[in-house]
Amino acid sequence: MPLYEYHCEDCGRDAELLVAANAQPDCPQCGSRKLSKLLSVVASPSREGSTAGQSDRPSGSCGAGCGCHPHG
Ligand SMILES: [Zn+2]
Repeated sequence: MPLYEYHCEDCGRDAELLVAANAQPDCPQCGSRKLSKLLSVVASPSREGSTAGQSDRPSGSCGAGCGCHPHG
């Protein structure tokens, strides 16, 4: 489950809670449900699933020092 940071509007405390999607947590301090989500500390998937076969990448998007350029 992702970790979210909430701010309680009742007691003014911040709390990091593990909540499922579409779940409404309550404040661990005062039990209030008036929590506003501050930010999400979620590890976003940085790896994209490659499609079948390797398509030609547009050249010139990176600098000369970039290693993405094909050798030769
Ligand atoms: Zn609270």
